[in-house]
Amino acid sequence: MSFDISNIRKDFPILNQKIYNRPLVYFDNAATTQRPQQVIDALTRTYSEYYGNIHRAAHYLADKATMAYEETREKAQKLINAETREQIVFTKGATESINLVAYSYGEAFMQEGDEIIVSEMEHHSNIVPWQLMAQRKKARIVMLPMDDDGRLLIEQLDALITKRTRIIAVGHVSNVLGTINPVKEIIEKAHTRGVHVLIDGAQAVPHLQIDVQELDADFYAFSAHKMYGPNGVGVLYGKRELLEQMPPYQGGGEMISEVSFAGTSYNELPYKFEAGTPNISGVIAFGAAIDYLQNIGLETVSRVETEILKYATAELNKIQGMKIYGTQIKKSGVISFNVEGVHFFDLGTMLDKFGIAVRTGHHCADPLMDHFGIQGTVRVSFAFYNTKEEVDLFIEALKKVIQMF
Ligand code: PMP
Repeated sequence: MSFDISNIRKDFPILNQKIYNRPLVYFDNAATTQRPQQVIDALTRTYSEYYGNIHRAAHYLADKATMAYEETREKAQKLINAETREQIVFTKGATESINLVAYSYGEAFMQEGDEIIVSEMEHHSNIVPWQLMAQRKKARIVMLPMDDDGRLLIEQLDALITKRTRIIAVGHVSNVLGTINPVKEIIEKAHTRGVHVLIDGAQAVPHLQIDVQELDADFYAFSAHKMYGPNGVGVLYGKRELLEQMPPYQGGGEMISEVSFAGTSYNELPYKFEAGTPNISGVIAFGAAIDYLQNIGLETVSRVETEILKYATAELNKIQGMKIYGTQIKKSGVISFNVEGVHFFDLGTMLDKFGIAVRTGHHCADPLMDHFGIQGTVRVSFAFYNTKEEVDLFIEALKKVIQMF
């Protein structure tokens, strides 16, 4: 598909509106993206044409819903090039995917005194689940540090991995710095020492072509709402031999094979990890989001977003007192910054009045904030539907806001 920005923007009804009498500029895509009409239509179609509870009933509606739900599993499998559909587990988001692994992997493989390596730039959702697991299993968390440019010090990894290291948890792309981490190299280093790796791909799958087999990732987690799909849907990919050895994360309907009070046997993959009625319509509409992304093509998405990133970075750097956090060459479309003398919260609130939607605060990455000795930043994050003209509106508004202080 050729990339025609005006057609693309027509697909996103929410973008074509004025707020406070100004055109909306949506630069908070790392928090959540907006949905194209195709995804909205898929949701509506599910509810108006073939909604029923999946897998269990023997009637037309349930059957159609089951087929559509399972079709998304195949689309997700192809999107990240997973070996089989059974290795795609639907969750309610990247957070739940990581919690699932921290719990079930912990139960299967962690002993007292074992270690988990977690990077300094992680989102809280890739720190706290491991802390909970570490408390339960009396394990220890070891931090993989980064430098002031937002680069992970992977040369320290060989020394950080010990006989007790079982798993490394690292983000593919930082939601604060935009750094694209060298996850393939990290996985290679880990595997030579018999250590597993979970990749938090929440900020990567919407922007980069992911191939879990090429990466040789043991686990890969992501969320649909950051990739133009519904919220309340996520994916966990895992290596089959690991998922098979891991106990269920939650008990309930669907995840069992047989239940009696004498004992219960569990269903096969992926259903062992999908207890209860899932977000049926959300998963089905997620299929439409995957189609949408793939129709544009992730190479095009990356190219368009990188152009906007470069342009916005250059324009921001012209502003006096500007400090950008995360200056790696290999970067996704995220810019976190502060302006000397103005609080990030004031900047964000005032930018909103100019129609510019940005994020302010710690971005759920307190250890990263501590590294830089700051409380928070302003963050702008781009999607393929953003334009240089929007960057111009943002820069113009930012200059006006700064003058007010
Ligand atoms: N990891 C990263 C890097 C993120 O940016 C986010 C969302 N901000 C998450 C994990 C958690 O995703 P969710 O809230 O969709 O579960």
